[in-house]
Amino acid sequence: MDFSQFNKRRAASFNQQKQLLKKLSAGKTVLCETCQQPLKLNLAVDIAQKGLVYCQKGCTQIELEIT
Ligand SMILES: [Zn+2]
Repeated sequence: MDFSQFNKRRAASFNQQKQLLKKLSAGKTVLCETCQQPLKLNLAVDIAQKGLVYCQKGCTQIELEIT
């Protein structure tokens, strides 16, 4: 297994998540890549310091670390 590739992918998606969270918390609309519906941010999840970004159809469900 190529760990450098693996780490790169994780870093990229972590940055994407941060960007996503930044936009959503600033009240901007971000569309789901799959269904083009606006993504919603749910901070009322029961796991501490996690937020959930999701679309209405459920094709996007991303857990975000809120720090
Ligand atoms: Zn979707």
